[in-house]
Amino acid sequence: MNDTSLDALARPATLCAFCPKMCRTACPVAEAEGREAVTPWAKMSLVHLARTGQVSLEEPSVRRSLEACTGCGACVEKCAHGNPVAESLFTARGVAGSARIAEHRAAFERTGDVKGRDHAEALVGLPRNKNGRVAYFPGCTRACEDGPEAVRRDLRALTRALDEPVVVCDVSRASRLQCCGYPLYVDGQIDLVEQNLLRLGELFAGHELVVTPDPGCAYVLSTVQSLLIGRRGKARGFPSVLPLVEVLAQHADRFADAARDRVLRYHDPCYLGRRGRTFDAPRELLRAACGRPPLEFHKNRGDADCCGGGGLYPMSNPEGAADIARRRVSHDGNAHIPAELVVTACPSARRNFARAGVRVADLIDVILGELP
Ligand code: SF4
Ligand code: SF4
Repeated sequence: MNDTSLDALARPATLCAFCPKMCRTACPVAEAEGREAVTPWAKMSLVHLARTGQVSLEEPSVRRSLEACTGCGACVEKCAHGNPVAESLFTARGVAGSARIAEHRAAFERTGDVKGRDHAEALVGLPRNKNGRVAYFPGCTRACEDGPEAVRRDLRALTRALDEPVVVCDVSRASRLQCCGYPLYVDGQIDLVEQNLLRLGELFAGHELVVTPDPGCAYVLSTVQSLLIGRRGKARGFPSVLPLVEVLAQHADRFADAARDRVLRYHDPCYLGRRGRTFDAPRELLRAACGRPPLEFHKNRGDADCCGGGGLYPMSNPEGAADIARRRVSHDGNAHIPAELVVTACPSARRNFARAGVRVADLIDVILGELP
């Protein structure tokens, strides 16, 4: 066990261990699993107990508790200290180690993807080079799970909004440069995340702006990147990285009436909304496309409930993740106001809702008039 990493968690773990659980009801995992053992307080208390030698992070039940976090950040909103619970749990996962971490590290070091996939398979026939003001970075969910058609839809929307050519980042398994590193970040593998970001800085260096459809990628490539490599990233010409909807919303009028009169309810993805503070852009796009503002969940914007799709939680507890998604749409105070579909702006959120049987659409399909 790496005690140095655990020592770095002394303050956040102690704050939680001696707290009267002010964030008790904020955690989507604790609510869905209905277990005190996975409240933010309990999970962080385990880290505190591990630091003081009273439990081992390697015990299977402790590992399971560390896994029970989507990274949504809802607990932080309720915490007077702004305690970084998710980040602390992610670090603790790394200290505890697991078979998944070992497999992901090995695959990433070999291929640049934790599952050994080749993101370039979704990019065949697209202009991939290092020159061009604006470049598109697909991320693994878009490239490998949504596939080439979804990538092409993103590019059609981006080209229409910007009215200029957009190139695609030259990602591939052969170069081992293709993932932002989010799956490693949530497992506390910061050494690999940092190395990867430095290499991505070189890949992005010819561009002024990199645009990604995945808010998790945008978060790692901007917020985490500036925390981890900061000045070194700037020195290597790391460009601005924005979520796709932010860029599209600057020209929302170009999507006017694409889904006229459709009645949709917008879900704020955690890494776009609460963490990325992007709330208005998707709503402006939906207002333009539908000719009306989207319906809102009662809990929205910074207060939105999580869909359950982040933090690799669907990998460790698929049924728990699906339950969180179903609770998001059925337990909300506005659930009685009918909408045709839930719409969201995160590939992972959309997939998690779909896995849970929720009728859901991708915002890009709405603004291109390609709804089912
Ligand atoms: S995150 Fe904040 S409110 Fe929640 S248990 Fe920890 S210290 Fe208390
Ligand atoms: S970040 Fe979200 S899932 Fe993780 S402990 Fe906090 S509220 Fe729970």
